[in-house]
Amino acid sequence: MTLRRRILIGYGAGLGLLAVLLAWAVVNLVSLGQASDAILRENYKSILAAENMIDAIERQDSATLLAVLGYQGEGLQQFRENENHFLQWLGRAKDNVTIPGEAEIISAIEAGYSAYLVNFSQLPQPERSDPEQASQFYHDTVWPSFQVVRDNCVCLREINQDTMFAASKRAEHVAHTAILSTATVGLAAVAIGLAFSLLLSKRLVQPIRQMMNATEALAEGDYEVKVPAAGADELGRLAEGFNAMADKLGAYHRMNVEKTVAEKRKSDAVLRSIEDGVVVVDAEFRLTNMNPQAGRILGVDPEAVTDKHFLEVVKNEKLFEYVKATAESMQPPVIEEGQNILTVSQGTSARHYLFAITPVVSKAGGMDGVVLLLRDVTRLKELDRMKSEFIMTASHELKTPLQSLGMSIELLQEGASDRLTDKQKQLLSAAHEELQRLKSLIGDLLDLSRIEAGKVEMEIAPVPVCIMTDKAIGVFKTQAEELHVELAAKMPEDLPDVMADANKITWVLTNLISNALRYVDAGGHIRLSAEQLGSWVHVSVTDDGEGIPPEYQSRVFDKFVQVKSEKAVGGTGLGLAICKEIVRAHKGTIWVDSAPGERSTFTFTLPVAEQI
Ligand code: ADP
Repeated sequence: MTLRRRILIGYGAGLGLLAVLLAWAVVNLVSLGQASDAILRENYKSILAAENMIDAIERQDSATLLAVLGYQGEGLQQFRENENHFLQWLGRAKDNVTIPGEAEIISAIEAGYSAYLVNFSQLPQPERSDPEQASQFYHDTVWPSFQVVRDNCVCLREINQDTMFAASKRAEHVAHTAILSTATVGLAAVAIGLAFSLLLSKRLVQPIRQMMNATEALAEGDYEVKVPAAGADELGRLAEGFNAMADKLGAYHRMNVEKTVAEKRKSDAVLRSIEDGVVVVDAEFRLTNMNPQAGRILGVDPEAVTDKHFLEVVKNEKLFEYVKATAESMQPPVIEEGQNILTVSQGTSARHYLFAITPVVSKAGGMDGVVLLLRDVTRLKELDRMKSEFIMTASHELKTPLQSLGMSIELLQEGASDRLTDKQKQLLSAAHEELQRLKSLIGDLLDLSRIEAGKVEMEIAPVPVCIMTDKAIGVFKTQAEELHVELAAKMPEDLPDVMADANKITWVLTNLISNALRYVDAGGHIRLSAEQLGSWVHVSVTDDGEGIPPEYQSRVFDKFVQVKSEKAVGGTGLGLAICKEIVRAHKGTIWVDSAPGERSTFTFTLPVAEQI
């Protein structure tokens, strides 16, 4: 049965009960009306007739007395008038015989009245007879017959009154019964209606409630939940639909769980197979994943540290700052070369890890977390150190023989020049030139490897920038004048002192000026300048020489990088690498800004003295 039909039956039953109640009330009202109507219709006319007959006959009796007393004319007239009256009402009474015994009484009245009329007609005439005789006749004959008729009329009135009273009683009884039965039927209707409503609402609400509970359970992840089948109506179909939906959701969920588990296993396997340490944190910097390699590097159990804060596990403020900056900017951090190394001491030795930080950005563009990769570069560092030491030793060893070779060539050039042919002199001069180049290369290599190996001690102290710039300018003053190049410094007066090793920074400046002199044409300019920016002083060497092509600008600080040009001949490609190492030892940075064909500006930073 459909839900609609069920609701209609429910309402229909209520309406049916109401109709029954209404019909019952109408029947009762009709029977009550009929009972009352009978009282009026059946008995009222008879009572009226009886009353009027009594009235008429009493007037006739008075008229008889008038006649007896000698008022013959008036008495007779009154008698005849009331006779008509009486007979009229008698006729009406005869027409309205409704109750048993009434006909007999009317017949008796009629007979009695006929006798009364006869008796009246026999009443002696007072003018012709003795008045006493008339009076006696009245008393003995007329009066008794009058009494008979009157009594019968009274009787007629009474039986009708009794009947009326009985009818009234009956109506009262009918009304009483009607009230009682209507109330009973009403109460029964209310009870049945109530029971029916309760049953109907229960049958309607119960499946809905079951469905509500099932929906809540489903929302909480119980995919096994089922709604009991509730028949073939709309609710039943809804329950079937719900169960099918829960089944599909369950299957989808299981599939998703399996997929997620498989994905997790895959990513765990990938993480495990990576030789580098990998640490993954969420947007709140809580550890969500860590491979065994990272656990070994950080000396923790990867399983035990899940959900712990990054700082609790890694305990490195600087690294955490980089991780935080990555999460905030959603961009990998820009870390200077050499600064992206995490050193972890293990017992007496230390291990070095190159770190890379990558943000994990969600599809919607939100921050999901950060991945930290730790690559063991201890061996590379060691190799680097060994290489530097080797270069240092080799350069050192080469320096002395080169020195004596140079001296020998110079001696030959001076002492045996008259015995040598032009060709031999030319060769000797080329050998001297090459030797000079080799000497400067060996010198630069030795310097660089010593700085890299930390063998060059930095004597850092507060120092005015102009002392170093003046010193560097002093070294090249004559050379600049010879080349017709203007070499000058332009320093602000309020420039603070910087924390620096004055000799090493002068070395940097002389390197930069000697380069500039090489690339500036006659009539060119080289200008040294400085300015304070926050806690750093930026020192620049600007020349209006040939400049550096953009693709070389970031690489010229690497070892042996030279821009292919005629003027680069004779250089070693190590000068700027030495400058970089010295500036880095001062915790500063160095970069070049150049417009090819116009100018080059080399700038390096030094910390302001008060800051340290
Ligand atoms: P080099 O000994 O060759 O000068 P550097 O390391 O000092 O080695 O310089 C590297 C390269 O940078 C040079 O070979 C040159 O091409 C370029 N360079 C350096 N300074 C300047 C400059 N002031 N103007 C143009 N190019 C320059």
